[in-house]
Amino acid sequence: MVTGTAHPPGGAHPHRVVVVGGGFGGLQAATHLARAPVELTVVDRRNFHLFQPLSYQLATGALSPGEVCYPLRAIFKRRPNVRVLLAEVEGFDLDARELRLKPGAGDSGPLSISYDTLIVAGGSRYSYFGHDEWQDLAPEVKSLESALAVRGRILSAFEAAEMEPDEPRQAGWLTFVVVGAGPTGVEMAGQIAELARDTLRRDFRAIDPREGRVLLVEMADRVLTSFPPSLSRRAARSLEQLGVTPLLERTVVAIDRDAVTIEAPDGGSERIPARTVIWAAGVTASRLAARLGELAGAELDRAGRVAVEPDLTLPGHPEVLALGDMVRVRGADGTPVVLPGLAPVAMQQGRYAARVVRARLRGRSIGAFRYRDKGNLATIGRARAVADLHAIRLSGFLAWAAWLVVHLWYLVGYQNRLLVFIRWSISFFTRGRGARLIGAAPAGR
Ligand SMILES: Cc1cc2nc3c(=O)[nH]c(=O)nc-3n(C[C@H](O)[C@H](O)[C@H](O)COP(=O)(O)OP(=O)(O)OC[C@H]3O[C@@H](n4cnc5c(N)ncnc54)[C@H](O)[C@@H]3O)c2cc1C
Repeated sequence: MVTGTAHPPGGAHPHRVVVVGGGFGGLQAATHLARAPVELTVVDRRNFHLFQPLSYQLATGALSPGEVCYPLRAIFKRRPNVRVLLAEVEGFDLDARELRLKPGAGDSGPLSISYDTLIVAGGSRYSYFGHDEWQDLAPEVKSLESALAVRGRILSAFEAAEMEPDEPRQAGWLTFVVVGAGPTGVEMAGQIAELARDTLRRDFRAIDPREGRVLLVEMADRVLTSFPPSLSRRAARSLEQLGVTPLLERTVVAIDRDAVTIEAPDGGSERIPARTVIWAAGVTASRLAARLGELAGAELDRAGRVAVEPDLTLPGHPEVLALGDMVRVRGADGTPVVLPGLAPVAMQQGRYAARVVRARLRGRSIGAFRYRDKGNLATIGRARAVADLHAIRLSGFLAWAAWLVVHLWYLVGYQNRLLVFIRWSISFFTRGRGARLIGAAPAGR
């Protein structure tokens, strides 16, 4: 049984910090606390850190799981004060300062871990806007499993089209719809277009993959709404050059096994035969946010994010910090500050949380969290990207080079950086994708 009872209440033990989540925020908090005089426990329901910004490359066969995931245990192998637990957190007892873990196979009873300081970074999940039944029809690429399932569906669609004698049905297999034109949707659509246009060009006999259609459906009137309009326009142009059709100001109103129905602002609707739909629309906070909110009486916003104080602590619980995609931070005047759901936000908050703990151990306090926004990048395809670096706005090759450097820099693990660099270099010159594998799981809809 995993408990914190190795440290009797009141007994002399190092300060016990538990970090929930080994994603961007949790990992930064943990690595910046690993050398502090604390006993640190990192709990995650996966035994690896997933570099989510590249999960769409998993979904299109450009990269393999081992290149974008890194085992959490390996990160802390030289830190005897850090233990890593593969477990799902079910709930919290804020009064007893314990967190409850979901029992694994063969466990006899509820498991709990005691903490002196708790840092929760449970991230977010995709929201289907009240249509959870679409989840299976239009998978997303947030987790390793779903990214690989999407890879299977995309590649299987080309295989099914090759075997389909009926032309309209073949067209359905060769139509790919991506819902949501934020960075992930744009990247996903661009990659499918490149896969069809370049990588698979000569692979089939009955079909020409280049005739495949990639539709990018977006409710707003432009793609990449978090970027300045001029960069949105350039991104849309790049997408069109790649063969992607942006369908702007369109709302998905129905998805079934064979088609997607979209609605225009005038109320007119269109049913598009398409066997592969990928969801890249809004996100909602991890369920852990709601649990913390309920227990502490903290408000949740419409995206399910729990409101935390300017120092990331849970209202009334200075020993609990929450951060990343699952929180909304209050400004000094009490009003919520809107921060984007991006890795740099979570990483800066993770480092800040570690500083808070280290300062407290020295009997000090530090000022409120402040996000330093260094800019925004999105890639569209080979040598095509946009970069809003505030002072400079870039598009095309330069933006793409900046995107490559930033992503390689932030990937976890030197080996992964080297492997991804080699993979990208090979793909750049050959336009190939080495991980075009269809797993055993049923891939068609
Ligand atoms: C497809 C995709 C592409 C993206 N691209 C970009 C990009 O290009 N640039 C960018 O800046 N941001 C990007 N983001 C956003 C970025 O990944 C998130 O903002 C960032 O991951 C948030 O970090 P986090 O620590 O809050 O959560 P995460 O990194 O999601 O980490 C949460 C961790 O908590 C664990 N966890 C959750 N619940 C439990 C539980 N109950 N018990 C145990 N463990 C739990 C999860 O397994 C996970 O490891 C992208 C996101 C997605 C999904």
